[in-house]
Amino acid sequence: MLPVDLEAVIGLEVHVQLKTRTKAFCACPVVFGAAPNGAVCPVCLGYPGALPVPNREMAALGARLALATGCDVHARSAFARKSYFYPDLPKGYQITQFDRPLATGGRIDVRGTDGTARAVRLRRVHLEEDAGKSIHDAQGEDVPPGVTLVDLNRAGTPLAEIVTEPDLRTPSEAADFLSRVRRLVRWIGVSDGSMEEGSLRCDANVSLRPAGAEEPGTRVEVKNLNSIAHVRKALEHEVSRQAEALRAGRAVAADSRLFDPASGSTRPMRGKEESEDYRYFPDPDLGPLVLDGAWLEELAASLPEPPEAREARLVAQLGLSPADAATLCATRPLADAFEEAVALHPSNARGVASWFLGGLLARMGDSARQEGRLPVAPAAIARLVARIDDGTVSRRIAAELVDLLCAGAGDVDGLIRERGLFQVTDEGPIRAAVDAVLAANPALAAACRGGKSASFAWFVGQVMKATGGKASPAVVNRLLRERLDA
Ligand code: ADP
Ligand code: MG
Ligand code: ZN
Repeated sequence: MLPVDLEAVIGLEVHVQLKTRTKAFCACPVVFGAAPNGAVCPVCLGYPGALPVPNREMAALGARLALATGCDVHARSAFARKSYFYPDLPKGYQITQFDRPLATGGRIDVRGTDGTARAVRLRRVHLEEDAGKSIHDAQGEDVPPGVTLVDLNRAGTPLAEIVTEPDLRTPSEAADFLSRVRRLVRWIGVSDGSMEEGSLRCDANVSLRPAGAEEPGTRVEVKNLNSIAHVRKALEHEVSRQAEALRAGRAVAADSRLFDPASGSTRPMRGKEESEDYRYFPDPDLGPLVLDGAWLEELAASLPEPPEAREARLVAQLGLSPADAATLCATRPLADAFEEAVALHPSNARGVASWFLGGLLARMGDSARQEGRLPVAPAAIARLVARIDDGTVSRRIAAELVDLLCAGAGDVDGLIRERGLFQVTDEGPIRAAVDAVLAANPALAAACRGGKSASFAWFVGQVMKATGGKASPAVVNRLLRERLDA
Protein backbone atom coordinates (compact mmCIF):
# COMPACT_ATOMS: atom_id res chain seq x y z
CA MET A 1 0.00 0.00 0.00
CA LEU A 2 0.98 3.57 -0.63
CA PRO A 3 2.03 5.52 2.49
CA VAL A 4 -0.19 8.58 2.99
CA ASP A 5 2.70 10.96 2.43
CA LEU A 6 3.30 9.74 -1.12
CA GLU A 7 1.17 10.24 -4.22
CA ALA A 8 1.27 8.33 -7.51
CA VAL A 9 1.41 10.18 -10.82
CA ILE A 10 0.35 8.11 -13.82
CA GLY A 11 0.20 8.82 -17.54
CA LEU A 12 -0.85 6.33 -20.23
CA GLU A 13 0.08 5.84 -23.86
CA VAL A 14 -2.70 3.82 -25.48
CA HIS A 15 -2.33 2.25 -28.91
CA VAL A 16 -5.62 1.75 -30.70
CA GLN A 17 -5.63 -0.43 -33.80
CA LEU A 18 -7.83 1.34 -36.33
CA LYS A 19 -10.44 -0.79 -38.03
CA THR A 20 -9.43 -0.27 -41.64
CA ARG A 21 -9.70 -2.85 -44.38
CA THR A 22 -6.14 -2.24 -45.57
CA LYS A 23 -2.87 -1.20 -43.95
CA ALA A 24 -1.73 2.35 -43.16
CA PHE A 25 0.46 2.95 -46.22
CA CYS A 26 -0.16 0.03 -48.59
CA ALA A 27 -3.04 -2.04 -49.94
CA CYS A 28 -2.30 -5.19 -47.92
CA PRO A 29 -5.34 -6.43 -45.99
CA VAL A 30 -5.38 -6.09 -42.22
CA VAL A 31 -5.94 -9.64 -41.01
CA PHE A 32 -5.70 -11.39 -37.67
CA GLY A 33 -4.66 -15.02 -37.51
CA ALA A 34 -3.77 -15.41 -41.21
CA ALA A 35 -0.88 -17.57 -42.44
CA PRO A 36 2.42 -15.93 -41.31
CA ASN A 37 3.83 -13.42 -43.79
CA GLY A 38 0.83 -13.93 -46.06
CA ALA A 39 -0.32 -10.30 -45.99
CA VAL A 40 2.79 -8.36 -46.94
CA CYS A 41 4.08 -6.34 -49.90
CA PRO A 42 7.20 -4.34 -50.82
CA VAL A 43 5.84 -1.25 -48.96
CA CYS A 44 5.20 -2.86 -45.57
CA LEU A 45 8.33 -5.00 -45.97
CA GLY A 46 10.34 -1.83 -46.56
CA TYR A 47 11.87 -2.81 -49.88
CA PRO A 48 14.03 -0.05 -51.33
CA GLY A 49 12.12 2.15 -53.73
CA ALA A 50 8.66 1.16 -52.49
CA LEU A 51 6.56 4.24 -51.74
CA PRO A 52 3.96 4.57 -48.96
CA VAL A 53 0.54 6.10 -49.68
CA PRO A 54 -1.52 7.15 -46.64
CA ASN A 55 -4.81 5.33 -46.15
CA ARG A 56 -7.68 7.82 -46.14
CA GLU A 57 -9.75 5.60 -43.84
CA MET A 58 -6.92 5.62 -41.28
CA ALA A 59 -7.10 9.43 -41.22
CA ALA A 60 -10.90 9.34 -40.96
CA LEU A 61 -10.93 6.89 -38.04
CA GLY A 62 -8.10 8.70 -36.25
CA ALA A 63 -9.86 12.03 -36.67
CA ARG A 64 -13.12 10.49 -35.48
CA LEU A 65 -11.41 9.29 -32.30
CA ALA A 66 -9.75 12.68 -31.78
CA LEU A 67 -13.04 14.53 -32.29
CA ALA A 68 -14.87 12.19 -29.92
CA THR A 69 -12.36 13.00 -27.18
CA GLY A 70 -12.63 16.75 -27.71
CA CYS A 71 -9.21 17.22 -29.32
CA ASP A 72 -8.26 19.97 -31.74
CA VAL A 73 -7.80 18.09 -34.98
CA HIS A 74 -5.18 19.86 -37.04
CA ALA A 75 -5.82 20.65 -40.69
CA ARG A 76 -2.18 19.83 -41.39
CA SER A 77 -0.09 17.20 -39.65
CA ALA A 78 3.06 15.38 -40.69
CA PHE A 79 4.56 11.91 -40.69
CA ALA A 80 8.00 11.29 -39.22
CA ARG A 81 10.42 8.39 -39.09
CA LYS A 82 11.26 6.90 -35.71
CA SER A 83 14.40 4.81 -36.21
CA TYR A 84 15.32 1.79 -34.17
CA PHE A 85 16.54 -1.69 -34.91
CA TYR A 86 14.45 -4.69 -34.16
CA PRO A 87 13.79 -7.87 -36.17
CA ASP A 88 10.07 -7.17 -36.49
CA LEU A 89 10.63 -3.68 -37.90
CA PRO A 90 11.62 -4.39 -41.49
CA LYS A 91 12.26 -0.79 -42.60
CA GLY A 92 14.47 0.00 -39.61
CA TYR A 93 12.08 2.82 -38.76
CA GLN A 94 8.44 3.23 -37.87
CA ILE A 95 6.30 5.81 -39.64
CA THR A 96 4.67 7.86 -36.89
CA GLN A 97 3.81 11.46 -36.10
CA PHE A 98 6.15 13.46 -33.93
CA ASP A 99 6.22 17.25 -33.71
CA ARG A 100 3.08 17.70 -35.81
CA PRO A 101 0.52 15.20 -34.54
CA LEU A 102 -2.97 14.72 -35.93
CA ALA A 103 -4.59 16.18 -32.84
CA THR A 104 -3.82 17.78 -29.46
CA GLY A 105 -5.77 18.64 -26.33
CA GLY A 106 -8.95 16.78 -25.49
CA ARG A 107 -9.95 14.85 -22.40
CA ILE A 108 -11.56 11.71 -21.09
CA ASP A 109 -13.26 11.71 -17.70
CA VAL A 110 -12.64 8.89 -15.25
CA ARG A 111 -14.38 8.03 -12.03
CA GLY A 112 -12.09 9.17 -9.22
CA THR A 113 -11.63 7.42 -5.89
CA ASP A 114 -14.38 9.56 -4.36
CA GLY A 115 -16.83 8.48 -7.10
CA THR A 116 -16.99 11.82 -8.90
CA ALA A 117 -15.79 12.39 -12.48
CA ARG A 118 -12.21 13.58 -12.92
CA ALA A 119 -10.86 14.94 -16.18
CA VAL A 120 -7.78 13.29 -17.67
CA ARG A 121 -6.26 15.64 -20.21
CA LEU A 122 -5.02 14.19 -23.47
CA ARG A 123 -1.71 15.48 -24.67
CA ARG A 124 -2.11 14.24 -28.21
CA VAL A 125 -3.64 11.71 -30.56
CA HIS A 126 -1.38 10.75 -33.42
CA LEU A 127 -1.29 8.22 -36.25
CA GLU A 128 1.38 5.58 -36.73
CA GLU A 129 1.99 2.14 -38.13
CA ASP A 130 2.42 -1.03 -36.11
CA ALA A 131 5.47 -3.29 -36.22
CA GLY A 132 5.44 -7.02 -37.03
CA LYS A 133 5.50 -9.78 -34.44
CA SER A 134 8.47 -11.70 -33.10
CA ILE A 135 7.56 -15.19 -32.03
CA HIS A 136 10.08 -16.25 -29.39
CA ASP A 137 8.42 -19.41 -28.17
CA ALA A 138 7.71 -20.95 -31.57
CA GLN A 139 7.24 -24.70 -31.51
CA GLY A 140 7.18 -27.17 -34.34
CA GLU A 141 9.29 -29.85 -35.95
CA ASP A 142 10.94 -27.43 -38.36
CA VAL A 143 11.75 -24.84 -35.67
CA PRO A 144 15.07 -25.45 -33.88
CA PRO A 145 15.06 -24.49 -30.20
CA GLY A 146 16.09 -20.92 -29.40
CA VAL A 147 15.02 -19.60 -32.78
CA THR A 148 12.83 -16.52 -33.03
CA LEU A 149 10.40 -16.33 -35.93
CA VAL A 150 9.10 -13.10 -37.42
CA ASP A 151 5.59 -12.61 -38.79
CA LEU A 152 5.23 -9.34 -40.66
CA ASN A 153 1.48 -9.48 -41.29
CA ARG A 154 0.95 -6.87 -38.59
CA ALA A 155 3.68 -4.57 -39.94
CA GLY A 156 2.05 -1.42 -41.31
CA THR A 157 -1.27 -1.85 -39.49
CA PRO A 158 -2.72 1.59 -38.70
CA LEU A 159 -2.74 2.72 -35.08
CA ALA A 160 -3.87 5.82 -33.26
CA GLU A 161 -1.85 6.57 -30.15
CA ILE A 162 -3.52 8.45 -27.32
CA VAL A 163 -1.04 10.08 -24.93
CA THR A 164 -2.44 11.41 -21.67
CA GLU A 165 -1.07 14.07 -19.39
CA PRO A 166 0.11 12.53 -16.11
CA ASP A 167 -3.31 13.23 -14.57
CA LEU A 168 -4.16 9.77 -13.24
CA ARG A 169 -3.51 9.16 -9.56
CA THR A 170 -4.34 5.52 -8.84
CA PRO A 171 -4.11 2.15 -10.61
CA SER A 172 -7.93 1.89 -10.53
CA GLU A 173 -8.29 5.25 -12.24
CA ALA A 174 -5.88 4.01 -14.92
CA ALA A 175 -7.93 0.83 -15.33
CA ASP A 176 -11.12 2.89 -15.53
CA PHE A 177 -9.52 5.17 -18.13
CA LEU A 178 -8.62 2.20 -20.27
CA SER A 179 -12.05 0.62 -20.05
CA ARG A 180 -13.55 3.95 -21.10
CA VAL A 181 -11.20 4.13 -24.06
CA ARG A 182 -12.17 0.59 -24.99
CA ARG A 183 -15.87 1.39 -24.78
CA LEU A 184 -15.42 4.62 -26.74
CA VAL A 185 -13.44 3.15 -29.65
CA ARG A 186 -16.08 0.45 -30.07
CA TRP A 187 -18.92 2.91 -29.56
CA ILE A 188 -17.73 5.16 -32.38
CA GLY A 189 -16.66 2.22 -34.56
CA VAL A 190 -12.97 3.04 -34.94
CA SER A 191 -11.55 -0.18 -33.44
CA ASP A 192 -12.42 -3.64 -32.17
CA GLY A 193 -10.80 -2.56 -28.91
CA SER A 194 -9.84 -6.14 -28.17
CA MET A 195 -6.92 -6.33 -25.77
CA GLU A 196 -6.72 -10.12 -26.25
CA GLU A 197 -6.17 -9.72 -29.99
CA GLY A 198 -3.83 -6.77 -29.44
CA SER A 199 -6.03 -4.12 -31.01
CA LEU A 200 -5.73 -2.12 -27.79
CA ARG A 201 -2.35 -1.95 -26.02
CA CYS A 202 -1.02 0.30 -23.35
CA ASP A 203 2.26 1.62 -21.93
CA ALA A 204 1.86 2.88 -18.37
CA ASN A 205 4.13 5.59 -16.92
CA VAL A 206 4.25 5.98 -13.18
CA SER A 207 6.19 7.97 -10.62
CA LEU A 208 5.77 8.80 -6.95
CA ARG A 209 6.13 12.17 -5.26
CA PRO A 210 5.42 13.65 -1.83
CA ALA A 211 1.63 14.13 -1.63
CA GLY A 212 0.68 17.57 -2.86
CA ALA A 213 4.07 18.30 -4.46
CA GLU A 214 4.19 20.08 -7.81
CA GLU A 215 7.25 18.42 -9.27
CA PRO A 216 6.77 14.87 -10.51
CA GLY A 217 9.15 12.14 -9.39
CA THR A 218 11.29 9.84 -11.52
CA ARG A 219 9.19 8.13 -14.17
CA VAL A 220 9.17 4.40 -14.86
CA GLU A 221 7.50 3.13 -18.04
CA VAL A 222 5.85 -0.30 -18.10
CA LYS A 223 5.63 -1.35 -21.73
CA ASN A 224 3.13 -3.33 -23.73
CA LEU A 225 0.38 -4.16 -21.28
CA ASN A 226 -2.29 -6.19 -22.99
CA SER A 227 -5.18 -6.34 -20.58
CA ILE A 228 -6.89 -3.92 -18.25
CA ALA A 229 -6.23 -6.25 -15.33
CA HIS A 230 -2.51 -6.23 -16.21
CA VAL A 231 -2.44 -2.42 -16.30
CA ARG A 232 -3.92 -2.31 -12.83
CA LYS A 233 -1.66 -5.02 -11.43
CA ALA A 234 1.50 -3.66 -13.04
CA LEU A 235 0.78 -0.20 -11.64
CA GLU A 236 -0.04 -1.56 -8.19
CA HIS A 237 3.23 -3.44 -8.19
CA GLU A 238 5.19 -0.40 -9.40
CA VAL A 239 3.62 1.86 -6.79
CA SER A 240 4.63 -0.43 -3.94
CA ARG A 241 8.05 -1.16 -5.43
CA GLN A 242 8.82 2.54 -5.83
CA ALA A 243 7.39 3.41 -2.41
CA GLU A 244 9.62 0.79 -0.83
CA ALA A 245 12.70 2.20 -2.57
CA LEU A 246 11.88 5.76 -1.55
CA ARG A 247 11.19 4.80 2.05
CA ALA A 248 14.52 2.97 2.18
CA GLY A 249 16.19 6.14 0.93
CA ARG A 250 17.03 4.66 -2.48
CA ALA A 251 16.41 6.45 -5.76
CA VAL A 252 14.01 5.03 -8.35
CA ALA A 253 15.77 4.25 -11.62
CA ALA A 254 14.14 5.78 -14.70
CA ASP A 255 13.81 2.53 -16.61
CA SER A 256 11.48 0.80 -19.04
CA ARG A 257 10.02 -2.34 -17.57
CA LEU A 258 7.94 -5.33 -18.57
CA PHE A 259 5.10 -6.83 -16.57
CA ASP A 260 5.22 -10.54 -15.85
CA PRO A 261 1.64 -11.74 -15.35
CA ALA A 262 2.78 -15.00 -13.73
CA SER A 263 4.56 -13.28 -10.82
CA GLY A 264 2.51 -10.07 -10.88
CA SER A 265 5.74 -8.05 -10.87
CA THR A 266 7.71 -5.86 -13.27
CA ARG A 267 11.34 -6.25 -14.33
CA PRO A 268 13.66 -4.01 -16.32
CA MET A 269 13.62 -4.50 -20.07
CA ARG A 270 16.83 -5.76 -21.56
CA GLY A 271 18.67 -3.30 -23.78
CA LYS A 272 16.29 -0.45 -23.02
CA GLU A 273 18.43 1.03 -20.28
CA GLU A 274 20.50 3.19 -22.62
CA SER A 275 18.70 6.40 -23.43
CA GLU A 276 16.85 5.85 -26.66
CA ASP A 277 17.75 7.94 -29.65
CA TYR A 278 15.08 7.56 -32.26
CA ARG A 279 16.54 10.22 -34.56
CA TYR A 280 13.09 11.48 -35.54
CA PHE A 281 12.92 13.33 -38.83
CA PRO A 282 10.13 14.13 -41.33
CA ASP A 283 9.45 11.20 -43.64
CA PRO A 284 10.62 12.43 -47.07
CA ASP A 285 8.36 9.88 -48.80
CA LEU A 286 5.19 11.39 -47.35
CA GLY A 287 3.77 14.87 -47.77
CA PRO A 288 1.77 16.60 -45.05
CA LEU A 289 -1.54 15.04 -44.06
CA VAL A 290 -4.06 17.70 -45.04
CA LEU A 291 -7.60 17.38 -43.75
CA ASP A 292 -10.41 19.35 -45.33
CA GLY A 293 -12.40 21.51 -42.89
CA ALA A 294 -15.79 20.55 -44.33
CA TRP A 295 -14.82 16.88 -44.21
CA LEU A 296 -13.87 17.22 -40.55
CA GLU A 297 -17.19 18.92 -39.82
CA GLU A 298 -19.01 16.04 -41.47
CA LEU A 299 -17.02 13.57 -39.37
CA ALA A 300 -17.90 15.47 -36.21
CA ALA A 301 -21.58 15.61 -37.16
CA SER A 302 -21.64 11.86 -37.78
CA LEU A 303 -20.49 11.01 -34.24
CA PRO A 304 -23.07 9.27 -32.05
CA GLU A 305 -24.11 10.61 -28.66
CA PRO A 306 -21.09 9.86 -26.41
CA PRO A 307 -21.49 7.03 -23.87
CA GLU A 308 -21.13 9.24 -20.79
CA ALA A 309 -23.74 11.70 -22.10
CA ARG A 310 -26.06 8.82 -22.86
CA GLU A 311 -25.70 7.44 -19.33
CA ALA A 312 -26.53 10.87 -17.91
CA ARG A 313 -29.57 11.16 -20.16
CA LEU A 314 -30.91 7.76 -19.12
CA VAL A 315 -30.59 8.82 -15.49
CA ALA A 316 -32.24 12.22 -16.04
CA GLN A 317 -34.95 11.16 -18.52
CA LEU A 318 -35.90 7.73 -17.32
CA GLY A 319 -35.00 7.84 -13.65
CA LEU A 320 -32.48 4.98 -13.83
CA SER A 321 -29.76 4.67 -11.21
CA PRO A 322 -26.31 5.77 -12.44
CA ALA A 323 -25.05 2.18 -12.00
CA ASP A 324 -27.89 0.71 -14.10
CA ALA A 325 -27.43 3.40 -16.76
CA ALA A 326 -23.71 2.57 -16.89
CA THR A 327 -24.42 -1.15 -17.30
CA LEU A 328 -26.94 -0.49 -20.08
CA CYS A 329 -24.42 1.80 -21.82
CA ALA A 330 -21.61 -0.77 -21.70
CA THR A 331 -21.97 -1.13 -25.47
CA ARG A 332 -23.85 0.87 -28.06
CA PRO A 333 -25.91 -2.08 -29.37
CA LEU A 334 -27.12 -2.75 -25.82
CA ALA A 335 -28.00 0.90 -25.19
CA ASP A 336 -29.77 1.05 -28.58
CA ALA A 337 -31.73 -2.12 -27.85
CA PHE A 338 -32.73 -0.82 -24.43
CA GLU A 339 -33.97 2.48 -25.80
CA GLU A 340 -35.79 0.72 -28.62
CA ALA A 341 -37.64 -1.37 -26.02
CA VAL A 342 -38.41 1.71 -23.91
CA ALA A 343 -39.85 3.45 -26.97
CA LEU A 344 -42.24 0.49 -27.38
CA HIS A 345 -43.27 0.51 -23.71
CA PRO A 346 -42.61 4.05 -22.51
CA SER A 347 -44.87 3.85 -19.46
CA ASN A 348 -42.38 1.72 -17.51
CA ALA A 349 -38.78 2.43 -18.49
CA ARG A 350 -37.48 1.22 -15.16
CA GLY A 351 -39.33 -2.06 -15.57
CA VAL A 352 -37.78 -2.46 -19.02
CA ALA A 353 -34.36 -1.66 -17.51
CA SER A 354 -34.77 -4.24 -14.80
CA TRP A 355 -35.71 -6.96 -17.31
CA PHE A 356 -32.73 -6.02 -19.44
CA LEU A 357 -30.39 -6.17 -16.46
CA GLY A 358 -31.74 -9.05 -14.41
CA GLY A 359 -33.45 -10.89 -17.26
CA LEU A 360 -31.23 -10.64 -20.32
CA LEU A 361 -27.74 -9.63 -19.18
CA ALA A 362 -27.83 -12.20 -16.41
CA ARG A 363 -28.30 -14.86 -19.10
CA MET A 364 -25.57 -13.59 -21.44
CA GLY A 365 -21.97 -14.78 -21.50
CA ASP A 366 -18.99 -12.44 -21.40
CA SER A 367 -18.41 -12.25 -25.12
CA ALA A 368 -22.08 -11.62 -25.88
CA ARG A 369 -22.00 -8.81 -23.30
CA GLN A 370 -18.82 -7.32 -24.75
CA GLU A 371 -20.27 -7.33 -28.23
CA GLY A 372 -23.74 -6.33 -27.08
CA ARG A 373 -25.22 -9.38 -28.85
CA LEU A 374 -28.72 -9.74 -27.35
CA PRO A 375 -30.36 -13.17 -27.37
CA VAL A 376 -33.84 -11.61 -27.62
CA ALA A 377 -35.25 -8.77 -29.70
CA PRO A 378 -35.92 -5.50 -27.82
CA ALA A 379 -39.58 -5.64 -28.90
CA ALA A 380 -40.01 -8.95 -27.07
CA ILE A 381 -38.74 -7.47 -23.82
CA ALA A 382 -41.03 -4.48 -24.26
CA ARG A 383 -43.97 -6.84 -24.80
CA LEU A 384 -42.98 -8.94 -21.80
CA VAL A 385 -42.92 -5.93 -19.47
CA ALA A 386 -46.24 -4.75 -20.92
CA ARG A 387 -47.75 -8.17 -20.11
CA ILE A 388 -46.45 -7.97 -16.55
CA ASP A 389 -47.77 -4.44 -16.19
CA ASP A 390 -51.26 -5.30 -17.50
CA GLY A 391 -51.45 -8.28 -15.17
CA THR A 392 -51.44 -10.98 -17.86
CA VAL A 393 -48.39 -12.78 -16.45
CA SER A 394 -46.69 -12.91 -13.07
CA ARG A 395 -43.03 -12.00 -12.66
CA ARG A 396 -42.18 -15.59 -12.09
CA ILE A 397 -43.80 -16.64 -15.34
CA ALA A 398 -42.11 -13.69 -17.03
CA ALA A 399 -38.74 -15.08 -15.95
CA GLU A 400 -39.68 -18.43 -17.52
CA LEU A 401 -40.72 -16.59 -20.65
CA VAL A 402 -37.28 -14.98 -20.86
CA ASP A 403 -35.74 -18.46 -20.78
CA LEU A 404 -38.07 -19.60 -23.55
CA LEU A 405 -37.36 -16.49 -25.61
CA CYS A 406 -33.60 -16.92 -25.14
CA ALA A 407 -33.97 -20.50 -26.37
CA GLY A 408 -35.61 -19.05 -29.48
CA ALA A 409 -39.11 -20.35 -28.77
CA GLY A 410 -41.46 -17.90 -30.46
CA ASP A 411 -43.01 -14.65 -29.28
CA VAL A 412 -44.33 -13.46 -25.94
CA ASP A 413 -48.06 -13.44 -26.66
CA GLY A 414 -47.91 -16.70 -28.62
CA LEU A 415 -46.08 -18.45 -25.77
CA ILE A 416 -48.54 -17.15 -23.18
CA ARG A 417 -51.47 -18.39 -25.30
CA GLU A 418 -50.05 -21.74 -26.33
CA ARG A 419 -48.71 -22.66 -22.93
CA GLY A 420 -51.53 -21.16 -20.90
CA LEU A 421 -49.18 -19.00 -18.90
CA PHE A 422 -51.83 -16.44 -17.95
CA GLN A 423 -51.69 -15.20 -14.44
CA VAL A 424 -54.60 -16.61 -12.46
CA THR A 425 -56.61 -13.93 -10.68
CA ASP A 426 -59.68 -16.10 -10.37
CA GLU A 427 -60.14 -16.61 -6.61
CA GLY A 428 -61.59 -20.14 -6.71
CA PRO A 429 -58.46 -22.14 -7.60
CA ILE A 430 -56.21 -19.86 -5.57
CA ARG A 431 -58.39 -20.23 -2.47
CA ALA A 432 -58.27 -24.02 -2.95
CA ALA A 433 -54.44 -23.90 -3.11
CA VAL A 434 -54.28 -21.67 -0.03
CA ASP A 435 -56.47 -24.08 1.94
CA ALA A 436 -54.49 -27.10 0.80
CA VAL A 437 -51.16 -25.54 1.77
CA LEU A 438 -52.45 -24.41 5.17
CA ALA A 439 -53.95 -27.83 5.85
CA ALA A 440 -50.68 -29.55 4.99
CA ASN A 441 -48.71 -27.35 7.42
CA PRO A 442 -50.92 -26.95 10.51
CA ALA A 443 -48.12 -26.12 12.96
CA LEU A 444 -46.67 -23.33 10.84
CA ALA A 445 -50.13 -22.03 10.10
CA ALA A 446 -50.85 -21.85 13.82
CA ALA A 447 -47.60 -19.98 14.45
CA CYS A 448 -48.46 -17.59 11.67
CA ARG A 449 -51.92 -17.01 13.19
CA GLY A 450 -50.27 -16.39 16.54
CA GLY A 451 -48.57 -13.37 15.03
CA LYS A 452 -45.25 -15.00 14.15
CA SER A 453 -45.52 -13.73 10.61
CA ALA A 454 -42.06 -14.91 9.58
CA SER A 455 -43.59 -17.84 7.71
CA PHE A 456 -46.13 -15.72 5.81
CA ALA A 457 -43.76 -15.19 2.88
CA TRP A 458 -43.03 -18.91 2.90
CA PHE A 459 -46.76 -19.64 2.58
CA VAL A 460 -47.01 -17.20 -0.32
CA GLY A 461 -44.17 -19.10 -1.99
CA GLN A 462 -45.87 -22.46 -1.41
CA VAL A 463 -49.15 -21.25 -2.89
CA MET A 464 -47.31 -19.83 -5.91
CA LYS A 465 -45.61 -23.17 -6.35
CA ALA A 466 -48.89 -25.05 -6.02
CA THR A 467 -50.38 -22.91 -8.79
CA GLY A 468 -47.40 -23.35 -11.09
CA GLY A 469 -46.32 -19.75 -10.54
CA LYS A 470 -49.38 -18.50 -12.33
CA ALA A 471 -51.35 -17.13 -9.40
CA SER A 472 -51.45 -13.37 -9.04
CA PRO A 473 -49.23 -12.63 -6.03
CA ALA A 474 -51.62 -9.86 -4.97
CA VAL A 475 -54.57 -12.25 -4.83
CA VAL A 476 -52.49 -14.93 -3.05
CA ASN A 477 -51.43 -12.41 -0.41
CA ARG A 478 -54.99 -11.23 0.15
CA LEU A 479 -56.55 -14.70 0.40
CA LEU A 480 -53.80 -16.04 2.70
CA ARG A 481 -54.18 -13.03 4.96
CA GLU A 482 -57.95 -13.58 5.07
CA ARG A 483 -57.57 -17.23 6.03
CA LEU A 484 -54.89 -16.60 8.65
CA ASP A 485 -56.73 -13.67 10.20
CA ALA A 486 -60.04 -15.53 10.29
P1 ADP B 1 8.26 10.21 -23.89
O1 ADP B 1 7.99 11.06 -25.06
O2 ADP B 1 9.69 10.09 -23.53
O3 ADP B 1 7.58 8.89 -23.92
P2 ADP B 1 6.50 12.01 -22.49
O4 ADP B 1 6.94 13.15 -21.64
O5 ADP B 1 5.92 12.31 -23.81
O6 ADP B 1 7.68 11.00 -22.62
O7 ADP B 1 5.45 11.22 -21.65
C1 ADP B 1 4.95 10.00 -22.02
C2 ADP B 1 3.90 9.65 -21.00
O8 ADP B 1 4.43 9.64 -19.70
C3 ADP B 1 2.73 10.60 -20.96
O9 ADP B 1 1.53 9.86 -20.87
C4 ADP B 1 2.96 11.40 -19.71
O10 ADP B 1 1.73 11.79 -19.14
C5 ADP B 1 3.65 10.42 -18.82
N1 ADP B 1 4.56 11.04 -17.85
C6 ADP B 1 5.46 12.00 -18.09
N2 ADP B 1 6.12 12.30 -16.97
C7 ADP B 1 5.64 11.50 -15.99
C8 ADP B 1 5.93 11.31 -14.61
N3 ADP B 1 6.88 11.99 -13.98
N4 ADP B 1 5.22 10.39 -13.94
C9 ADP B 1 4.28 9.67 -14.55
N5 ADP B 1 3.96 9.79 -15.83
C10 ADP B 1 4.63 10.70 -16.56
MG1 MG C 1 6.79 6.68 -24.54
ZN1 ZN D 1 1.84 -4.11 -47.63
